[in-house]
Amino acid sequence: MVSTLKVCEIFTSIQGESSYAGVPCAFIRLTGCNLRCTYCDTKYAYDEGVELTLDEVAQKATSTGTKLVEITGGEPLMQQPSIALAERLSLDGLTVLVETNGSLDISPLKGIPGVTVIMDLKTPSSGMSAHNDYANIARLTPEDEVKFVIGSRDDYTWAAQIIRRYEIDKKCLALMSPAETSLTPKVLTGWILEDKLDVRLNVQIHKYIFGPNQRGV
Ligand code: SF4
Repeated sequence: MVSTLKVCEIFTSIQGESSYAGVPCAFIRLTGCNLRCTYCDTKYAYDEGVELTLDEVAQKATSTGTKLVEITGGEPLMQQPSIALAERLSLDGLTVLVETNGSLDISPLKGIPGVTVIMDLKTPSSGMSAHNDYANIARLTPEDEVKFVIGSRDDYTWAAQIIRRYEIDKKCLALMSPAETSLTPKVLTGWILEDKLDVRLNVQIHKYIFGPNQRGV
């Protein structure tokens, strides 16, 4: 049987977040998400999309010519063939990032060489923190990255406690991004420096370059 995926969009841009920020990257945005974060900026990915075969998706991504590819959503792990897609792109010689919202088991992605998991842990202001699967933290390996979107001082305090409690900074890179509409990078930077927290600030540089509402960049 031919594997298919519902794909919202495939485009090339500059990676805006993570330790790969600034690197040219092909983005494969899969359709569908099991969460509804208050700050979601990709609501169009909840339903919009077309069915493509795994081969078609891989070919479109590799034909962009970038060495880095990100499978994102929505929530990519809602579609089981996303695992085979990650493996295929890795075998094609690409560095593969899979961005996941942290509510679903990341185990199927582990053990695929060349695949990095960028996993959210949803903060309280997202409205979705009850959906975090904390068992995933034990599944992380050093190449992975954990992302916290910080919308308030309460979010920051919560995230710092989670990092310390689960020793996330000892397992892999921890990222903090200010929520675009409620916190400035300057304020978040001040808190991080004050606490000497071992995290990396993310500033979504694609939005700085192309503007906050530009889609497909
Ligand atoms: S997990 Fe991502 S795509 Fe899903 S609702 Fe939250 S921000 Fe939007």
